[in-house]
Amino acid sequence: MAKKKEEIPGCSFCGRPGTIADLIPSGDGSSFICIDCVDNIYHTLEQMDMIAPSKHKSQKRGKKGADAASTEITLDTVPSPREIKTFLDQYVVGQDDAKKYLSVAVYNHYKRLLQPSGKDNGTDNVDIEKSNIVIVGPTGTGKTLLAKTIARLLNVPFAIVDATVLTEAGYVGEDIESLLTRLLQASDYDVARAEKGIVFIDEIDKIARKGDNPSITRDVSGEGVQQGLLKLLEGSVVNVPPQGGRKHPDQPMIAVDTKNILFICGGAFEGIERKIAQRLNTHVVGYSTDPTRQRLERENMMQYVAPQDLRSFGLIPEIIGRLPILTHLLPLDRDALRKILTEPKNAIIKQYVKLLEMDGVKLVFTPETLDLIVDKAIEYKLGARGLRSIVETVMIDAMYEIPASDVKEFTVTRDYALSKLQNANFEI
Ligand code: ADP
Repeated sequence: MAKKKEEIPGCSFCGRPGTIADLIPSGDGSSFICIDCVDNIYHTLEQMDMIAPSKHKSQKRGKKGADAASTEITLDTVPSPREIKTFLDQYVVGQDDAKKYLSVAVYNHYKRLLQPSGKDNGTDNVDIEKSNIVIVGPTGTGKTLLAKTIARLLNVPFAIVDATVLTEAGYVGEDIESLLTRLLQASDYDVARAEKGIVFIDEIDKIARKGDNPSITRDVSGEGVQQGLLKLLEGSVVNVPPQGGRKHPDQPMIAVDTKNILFICGGAFEGIERKIAQRLNTHVVGYSTDPTRQRLERENMMQYVAPQDLRSFGLIPEIIGRLPILTHLLPLDRDALRKILTEPKNAIIKQYVKLLEMDGVKLVFTPETLDLIVDKAIEYKLGARGLRSIVETVMIDAMYEIPASDVKEFTVTRDYALSKLQNANFEI
């Protein structure tokens, strides 16, 4: 039972007097603790690595409520576009165009958050509108990696969601509004923070219109979803199911205003090179007999991608209009794959070196071995994703044997790697 105000002795730790409203009672009500002491204990546990620090911080931000995100952000604390790109360079190889566009878009997103809300938006009444982004690029070239890397840098909530699970309301799949559930989760259900967040929608190309005549069969996962998505991209108040999935009549909804949420969409848009080539009225990709020329044409086409190509691919004009920034990723060439193996901060080879370092073993890959790994990834059209599985195949026996042996240094030669790949049925 609640004690009367005068009966509360104060915080049992620091002695600060207080009321039942600002002191937390213990289970049996015999002692109390004030919020400052809770904070101090939490901080100490954080420093002792007994709890995860980030969660605590975000919860604290959540408690501060409505304007928490904007009070934390000032233009001095926000990294400049150049700094954002330099950060991306540490993790993502190449793709300079996309990095530049993303850096500027994220920086401008912060600026927009800093403008005073309501009618009084400064002396000139200029309202900075958001510029959602669409990134077009072959699968496995770094779209998700770019999004994840950006997320590391940000202090606004960030969520990565997949467009393939979405369907029009009433059909098997998830409601379009469930895209925002992830953002709410990323902001500990602090709606004000979520409303300033960034959502990365992957595989946006999978909701392209399936055919030119949508009336024959109902296109519940294509055009219907695009229409639904439009509302979110434009900026409106939508009701979001707190647990995601399908809306349920009895479930309480959370109203989220998407006006300030930045949407970054990514998709492989397989075959779009043909549409670009047709538009440019050049030699149609794929009909060239010279394979080198074919490949070069395909690689070069992507850089000319324009909004009308997205339209030919099956995105509705209204959606394209709401994604004003269009950028592309290029296919990864041999040089890029070689760099991906060794150069990024958490490059695959660095990860294996670290794994064996923990066993006190120095691991070395010869340059010829690295070339072989890249050759195999290209030969089997595995791209950057394949690099890891190839290295894994080469290393599995060593990783199994070495920890229990007294080997102190292990060099992976080209011959060793070749034999391991042959054993694992990689056709050589
Ligand atoms: P997608 O474009 O299909 O989203 P991902 O970003 O998921 O591709 O890339 C798959 C994997 O390939 C990543 O986890 C990363 O290891 C590697 N990778 C792809 N592109 C790059 C790149 N440009 N720089 C560094 N690693 C890359």
